[in-house]
Amino acid sequence: MFQTESSPWQSRYRSIRPSIAAIAPTGGSFAGGTLVCRCSDRPVKVRIDAQSAHNHACGCTKCWKPQGALFSVVAVVPRDKVQVVENGDKLKVVDAGATIQRHACTGCGVHMYGRIEKTDHPFYGLDFIHTELSPDKGWAAPGFAAFVSSIIESGFDPARMGAVRARLKELGLEPMTASPRR
Ligand SMILES: [Zn+2]
Ligand SMILES: [Zn+2]
Repeated sequence: MFQTESSPWQSRYRSIRPSIAAIAPTGGSFAGGTLVCRCSDRPVKVRIDAQSAHNHACGCTKCWKPQGALFSVVAVVPRDKVQVVENGDKLKVVDAGATIQRHACTGCGVHMYGRIEKTDHPFYGLDFIHTELSPDKGWAAPGFAAFVSSIIESGFDPARMGAVRARLKELGLEPMTASPRR
């Protein structure tokens, strides 16, 4: 479904994200699309009525990423532009104690959206989404990387971090050192 392999950016990106071929160049007039979970039976569908912003690669252990990927790819959209349109009964919050309430499909485990309920949080009002779950083309491409060294917590060899950082920079995904997000 996501095998579109046309953009050179995509194929360069694939070495860091072997399991993702979903990223296409940003579309100028793109105004949203639908995220679909990976269930073949009754997939959860979430409609996003906005272009994504701040799309980035994230190395933290909490964001959803496909099997085998080092980084998740996560973006934000205004929460009032996010609407569960089908099979929302399958959604459940992964960790109710986390700053970001990640609403995951209980069938396939994919995180459909992450929402901040603390009104004093700097990112309150924005939901976190994974645009690779959408078959629609034109989502904003990732522009930086966050929580890069956190991939060590997931078992990545610290000795290879230099190579990962270099590769991220090469891809134009400048590693960010701090984020207020969790
Ligand atoms: Zn599912
Ligand atoms: Zn993350």
